[in-house]
Amino acid sequence: MPRVITVDHSLCRGCNLCIELCPKSIFQDSAEIGPAGLRVKEVISPDNCTGCGLCELCCPGAISIDPLPDEVFTSICAEQKDRRVETNARGGWKEINSLLTPGRYFMTGNDAIVEAALAAGCRFFAGYPITPANEILEEMSRRMKGLGGKFIQAEDEIASVFMMLGASWAGLKAMTATAGPGFALMQEGLSLADMAEVPCVIVNVQRAGPSTGQATRPAAMDMREARYGSHGGVQRIVLYPDSVQETFDLTIESFNLAERFRVPVILLSDGYLSHLSEKVEIGERLRVYDRVYIPGEPAFGPTPDSSAPSMPRFGDGEDLQVTGSTHDRSGKRSTADPSVQENLVFYLDRKILSRREELVDCEEMLLDDAEVVVVAFGTAGRSAKWAVKEARKLGRAVGLLRPRTVYPFPTQRIMELSRSGAKFVVPEMSQGQMSFVISQCIANEVVPLPQPNGQIIDPRRILGYLTEGAW
Ligand code: SF4
Ligand code: SF4
Repeated sequence: MPRVITVDHSLCRGCNLCIELCPKSIFQDSAEIGPAGLRVKEVISPDNCTGCGLCELCCPGAISIDPLPDEVFTSICAEQKDRRVETNARGGWKEINSLLTPGRYFMTGNDAIVEAALAAGCRFFAGYPITPANEILEEMSRRMKGLGGKFIQAEDEIASVFMMLGASWAGLKAMTATAGPGFALMQEGLSLADMAEVPCVIVNVQRAGPSTGQATRPAAMDMREARYGSHGGVQRIVLYPDSVQETFDLTIESFNLAERFRVPVILLSDGYLSHLSEKVEIGERLRVYDRVYIPGEPAFGPTPDSSAPSMPRFGDGEDLQVTGSTHDRSGKRSTADPSVQENLVFYLDRKILSRREELVDCEEMLLDDAEVVVVAFGTAGRSAKWAVKEARKLGRAVGLLRPRTVYPFPTQRIMELSRSGAKFVVPEMSQGQMSFVISQCIANEVVPLPQPNGQIIDPRRILGYLTEGAW
């Protein structure tokens, strides 16, 4: 089917790149002179166009190529699929043996991240040293080679994140780990991961900022950056554990979610949790998910049911183009059509939001008759748990909600709890980032208990507020 190739002559700069680069010689100079006083570029034999997109990519804005209609694209894919061997399909859930002998271990939060990532199948790590995430990089450098994986100490965090994305497209489960300023540098790459649907895991061991701040001290000051730090603003999956055991479990979950949804998943930790040593129970078998590849299927969304599309590797033989630009389902750039952009962005959001109920995961304690709901994340949740139990002993009607999934945010659950008229109290190792998010969901009183001083929150401080109202 011929492509509709349009040249806007008022935007043509006469660079002749279209004529030089098109492998099918589809452009030529005509005798006509255009509005800019240049020879008009004529489109000849559009039937020969392969849709490679080179002309649109190199032209400084004058050329646009309409994407193939969905039905044509689907039929081409079906033909390609017929030519392939069905048994090449791969991916999905599987049960594997744990890398470690099953049993009880004593390890730090950073060790737990490494053990869980390797167990989940991570075979590529690129990173740049930064406190308090250093032990992850060090241990990965020791362990990766023995497992047939690749470790790269990159020149900076920008290089790390892009290397991770490349490794993921080469077929490897990939990860990086960083903190404060490094996480900020990675944001551009994370937006590319959103747009190009690249599964990967980014660990952010939070420390007190802004900037270098207190590099060795814990904080929860990147809570909103994890969701809203990137350009483009699409939905994110962000997890934050409160113990070393949960760090192990949620690291595996991060890889499973990244592979299932084909998205970057952000695992938050902090300078306290990453260096805390606790016991971790490791079972005999682990359930892990590998990205699905179905030969001949389009490699990009929007999919009809907003699920993740098939993901081939480079070298699988697919006509695979990966771009951060707006693209059609084949991956070819399509930046001129507003509907392609709009459908793509809504799809990237829907991929996560349509499964919000399944993704939201909270620890709940004593909430049935709670007049005060303490909402706490990660390490602050440990302090809050003790304070809530003690306040109950003193007869106060308080309960705890601790979202393990920070995003998608548990809006529905918070709205349900708000119907009793309860007051919400939010202790945070920051100046009050998540209390703001909660106050956007409900009209109830939301009390921030901010502590951005690089220290974990003393549980007696929260108890003092719950019993005496003093912070
Ligand atoms: S590449 Fe674009 S700007 Fe350059 S000559 Fe062709 S149409 Fe004109
Ligand atoms: S998409 Fe490729 S084949 Fe088609 S006109 Fe552009 S450069 Fe030529």
